[in-house]
Amino acid sequence: IPGETLELRELVEEVVSRLRESAQLSDVSLTVEGEARVAGHPQRLRQVVTNLLKNAVEAAGPSGQVMVAIHAREGEVALTVRDTGPGLAPEAHERLFEPFFTTKPQGTGLGLAVSQAIAQAHGGHIQPRNLPGHGAEFTLHLPRSTP
Ligand code: ADP
Ligand code: MG
Repeated sequence: IPGETLELRELVEEVVSRLRESAQLSDVSLTVEGEARVAGHPQRLRQVVTNLLKNAVEAAGPSGQVMVAIHAREGEVALTVRDTGPGLAPEAHERLFEPFFTTKPQGTGLGLAVSQAIAQAHGGHIQPRNLPGHGAEFTLHLPRSTP
């Protein structure tokens, strides 16, 4: 994928303010730390961040917390979205990225399937992790853009 050089933190902040404007963040407390540059399609990566944030907010609930952390490592950039929700349901763990798999009454089950496809088209992937008793965490791994 060609695309542009993007500052991931700016992209996250754009998504957060859009979600706030459309009242999709409710009163969830949300923090963002770190910054890193990546090469990619702004619109598609915004879509991934939107999907991960919406899931985290939906899981965390109104009094929950969502934490976004951006790390630049050797060769890759990682963006982690962590929430204080109930964590991944046992039946969900294996099926998260399946199109139309949802545990929500009004869910489409497309957010993670689409997001994984976008991550892979950028040479990366999304890794889910259960934090037993503490919620769930999804990390978007992307190759680091060469300076
Ligand atoms: P949808 O949000 O429409 O259900 P997604 O593809 O975004 O579809 O997510 C699929 C399923 O993955 C969700 O229905 C839910 O079971 C699980 N899931 C995704 N994110 C989280 C999260 N942060 N905490 C717990 N479960 C999650
Ligand atoms: Mg979703």
